Amino acid sequence: MVNFLNEARKIESEIIKTRREIHKKPELAYQEKATAKLVAEQLKALGLEVKTGVGGTGVLATLKGVKTGKVVALRADMDALPIEEMTDVDFKSNVKGVMHACGHDTHVAMLLGTARLLANHKDELFGTVKFLFQPAEEHGGRGGAEPMIQDGVMENPKVDFVFGLHIDGDEKSGVLAFRGGPVMAAPDTFEIKIIGRGGHGAYPHQTVDPIYVAAQVIIAIQGVSSRMIDPIQPFVITVGSVHSGTKENIIPDQAILQGTIRTLDEATRKRAKAKVAEVAKGVCRAFGAKAEVEFEKDAYPVTVNDEKVTEQASKILSKMPGTRVKVRALQLGGEDFSRFLHEAPGTFYFLGTKNPAKGCIYPNHSPRFKVDEDVLKFGTASLAQLALEFTNPKN
Ligand SMILES: [Zn+2]
Ligand SMILES: [Zn+2]
Repeated sequence: MVNFLNEARKIESEIIKTRREIHKKPELAYQEKATAKLVAEQLKALGLEVKTGVGGTGVLATLKGVKTGKVVALRADMDALPIEEMTDVDFKSNVKGVMHACGHDTHVAMLLGTARLLANHKDELFGTVKFLFQPAEEHGGRGGAEPMIQDGVMENPKVDFVFGLHIDGDEKSGVLAFRGGPVMAAPDTFEIKIIGRGGHGAYPHQTVDPIYVAAQVIIAIQGVSSRMIDPIQPFVITVGSVHSGTKENIIPDQAILQGTIRTLDEATRKRAKAKVAEVAKGVCRAFGAKAEVEFEKDAYPVTVNDEKVTEQASKILSKMPGTRVKVRALQLGGEDFSRFLHEAPGTFYFLGTKNPAKGCIYPNHSPRFKVDEDVLKFGTASLAQLALEFTNPKN
């Protein structure tokens, strides 16, 4: 059996170098041009078949083994976040207000390492491995997985299994966390426009005050969570943006609330959306205002891992020295890896990077998010191991 961890150790410094290079030049969703170029160059140097401009700025590379077998797809997302970096690393972002604060730079570097390990073992490889470098995971809505799927990355040859790995600032360094079934939420974004009737702050009785009504709506829709959804179901609703008004003595015409609903199953999701709209409209009506409620049309679905594949994968990787496999706790973040899982069974798993001794204590999306780079070799080796095992038709 190939010892991918040993081989990942040998290229560890290059994985870290690539990661830092990408970290210095973060690119926002749909703008990942330099990153895609770096990715394509490295993949071409390995002798892989490479296609660029897939689903926008995405890159698809294919590695065919010498024996016939199954088709496995491995995915890394490439985009950064609109955050001003506040870490103390010497390879800090060179781009003002943009940072790889979710670790997608590490995903790219690890998967490039994996491509290298597998290319070196082409002779032992059954079937085909597809490497998917996708744009715009952080964007929401259309995201980056969907355009790549529409560009045919899951077909010709048809993907049998798909795997994705996310680095996680909440898990201890070296932990590999797996969970079968739902693992991440559907993130449904909503906007509630409250239409009142403006006027003078001293004469509210002549107006319909949308700010006052907005306050009632914010409180009332929390009741969907506590009174209308099965308490056994994980569910959260957050209003993250409130906009209205220009001056202290003017009652404005309208107020706009924006927020997110997170659910882990489709029935709860449907009910929650309907109830939020109903409560918002009802409260507005009671105070003489009107509500227009809109949900983002193509929000990411729930990320549902295949139970069998997840169990098999965690069993395979439980043997990797230096790591510890554990069951992933449920969380209500969203991921467009969910869309790949609609096309083929697979699993989305997590690699811990929390290490207080190295100051890696901040969560993903924090301006202080810092990665324990010693874990990158585990990620690289784990993806290679999964690809080798799942392409083998005997498994
Ligand atoms: Zn993120
Ligand atoms: Zn992410």
